[in-house]
Amino acid sequence: MLIDGHGRTVNYLRVSVTERCNFRCQYCMPEKPFSWVPRENLLSFEELFVFMKVAIDEGVTKIRITGGEPLLREGLDKFIKMIHDYKPDIDLALTTNAYLLPQTAQALKDAGLKRLNISLDSLKPEIAHKIAQKDVLAQVLKGIDKALEVGLGVKINMVPLKGINDDEILDIINYCRDRKIKVRFIEYMENAHASKAIEGMHGREILEKVKEGHTIRALGREGASPSFNYLLDEEYEFGLIDPHKHDFCENCNRIRLTAEGNLIPCLYFDEAMSIAKAVKEGDIEAASEVLATVLRDKPKENRWSEENPTEEKEVSTRAFYETGG
Ligand code: SAM
Ligand code: SF4
Repeated sequence: MLIDGHGRTVNYLRVSVTERCNFRCQYCMPEKPFSWVPRENLLSFEELFVFMKVAIDEGVTKIRITGGEPLLREGLDKFIKMIHDYKPDIDLALTTNAYLLPQTAQALKDAGLKRLNISLDSLKPEIAHKIAQKDVLAQVLKGIDKALEVGLGVKINMVPLKGINDDEILDIINYCRDRKIKVRFIEYMENAHASKAIEGMHGREILEKVKEGHTIRALGREGASPSFNYLLDEEYEFGLIDPHKHDFCENCNRIRLTAEGNLIPCLYFDEAMSIAKAVKEGDIEAASEVLATVLRDKPKENRWSEENPTEEKEVSTRAFYETGG
């Protein structure tokens, strides 16, 4: 079992397989970064897997593949099969913008993937275009249909932004309710890479919108999930991911690995330790030592502020497209 320096059990590893993306979401990667990580610095799937096996053997039971856009990385289905074959009962999930799902969903399912989280910020083509800076909606909706058709579990993530998609919170709920899938609203997390022109919504403002014409009842956090769950009209469950809340980090169970091998203890902070050398040399003991150090030094909580979210010292300098959200 993996326990961090604050006594929290860590059993969840998020692995970003690329920082590249085919969208330019305003809250994540509004412009192409000045430079990408050079391809030769990217770890191969085999190298990433050396570390993942260590983490699984020591107590990780849940793995999420993310990015950038993970479906851009060639051979992803083979990587998923590698993980699945090593431990078939592992909770294996992927987060994607769905653009490439129409042509990949079946192969992902066949490889052993169980679940997908899909980002869907708008049901209006022009607003989806404005957020992703590309005409994406029709293809994203096709991708969601395909994922459901092949039998993958699906959850939807929406990041509500003031004056952009805040009038669509109930529309997204209705879209998901009709398809019997869960939606989780994610508070915009202020970061130095996002567009300066956007403003996020506080969790309580999101709930105010949901309450227009509906009843909601708080159910609470589900285990170590970052999502606080609510029941709408006593029948439909949705979630709110509210990292600005002070109790958000209490049960944090996760660490993150980037495509170049940086092991990151917390989404907010820049601190990381590289496992690249260890896995390239196949040095299991060294990889395990890096894991132990990162766990020991995992911060107690993030610094996103409820009161002053845009104040410079409260804005994270980490790039979400690099850490995988
Ligand atoms: N490209 C994939 C996607 O968009 O689903 C996976 C990577 S993306 C970085 C993972 C998640 O992070 C997405 O659900 C996205 O909405 C969320 N995200 C990115 N930047 C964010 C921010 N500044 N605040 C809140 N959520 C963010
Ligand atoms: Fe790409 Fe996902 Fe970031 Fe949007 S949120 S730019 S789809 S990595």
